[in-house]
Amino acid sequence: MQTVILNNGVEMPILGFGVYQIPAEDTERAVSEALAAGYRLLDTAAAYGNEEAVGHAIKSSGIPREELFVTTKLWVQDTPAEDNARRAFETSLSKLGLEHLDLYLMHQPFGDVYGQWRAMEALNREGAAKAIGVANFYPDRLVDLIVNNEITPAVNQIETHPFFQRADYQGLMREHGVQIQSWGGFAEGRNDLFANPILAEIGKEHGKSVAQVVLRWLTQRGVVAIPKSVRAERMAENFDVFDFRLTDEQMARIATLDTGTSQFFDHRDPVMVTRLGGHRIDG
Ligand code: NAP
Repeated sequence: MQTVILNNGVEMPILGFGVYQIPAEDTERAVSEALAAGYRLLDTAAAYGNEEAVGHAIKSSGIPREELFVTTKLWVQDTPAEDNARRAFETSLSKLGLEHLDLYLMHQPFGDVYGQWRAMEALNREGAAKAIGVANFYPDRLVDLIVNNEITPAVNQIETHPFFQRADYQGLMREHGVQIQSWGGFAEGRNDLFANPILAEIGKEHGKSVAQVVLRWLTQRGVVAIPKSVRAERMAENFDVFDFRLTDEQMARIATLDTGTSQFFDHRDPVMVTRLGGHRIDG
């Protein structure tokens, strides 16, 4: 598996498995199948409600802990966020049945972001979270967090797919040493992604599916990808993307698909800030 080296020297697989929207009762099976298919990076979140099931699959796999890269995410916390975030971290760790996390992400740029980040910095210094990062931070929020804190996020996990490519933002993140990670790499199939004629044509040129073209395109750009599927055959298909290379001309054709806007919503939209930023989960 190809890897990227994060800004603190931690090594992260460039391709992993995401479990958003997998119901808790299906998650242990899905993660077990993903591990059997070869995935070693698992991406969950307190908000997904399936950390325990991910933990069960990890335990029953028998795979040595050091071969796995496990990410979970801190949901929005009230003040005193430093105490609450530490408690939430410990709850996640215990649900996962782990002694440490490889990556702990702040899930949303909302609430007491600075208190949350200070708690995450402490967890990182203690070695309980080998790397810490953020998700859904737009450039202004990310740079503000960087210039006003000691530890620069190792990762920013953001919506990134052929219709919202984030190339300029990836350049800015690179300048600051922040690794881009894609969520929704298939745009969850929106805008008819799996039937897109340009992606399908490029797939035909390599004998690969649209999904494989998208994952190759992301990883070839240095973007960490975490496709989700509940089907073993798609997990295998999505993992089989390192035996071909897209040409510059094919990369340029995919670049034409960029709309520069989200297929979901904007994290700066006041309606969404109210909805997500005011939502609390048990943890
Ligand atoms: P996604 O990976 O873009 O798309 C998943 C969808 O694609 C599912 O409907 C899946 O269906 C289908 N699919 C998967 N492989 C396929 C294939 N080879 N051919 C055809 N269809 C295929 O969506 P996502 O789950 O939203 O994003 C990936 C991960 O990113 C999540 O699981 C989560 O870990 C993370 N994420 C993070 C955030 C955040 O705020 N930080 C937000 C969203 C997601 P089946 O399952 O039926 O195969």
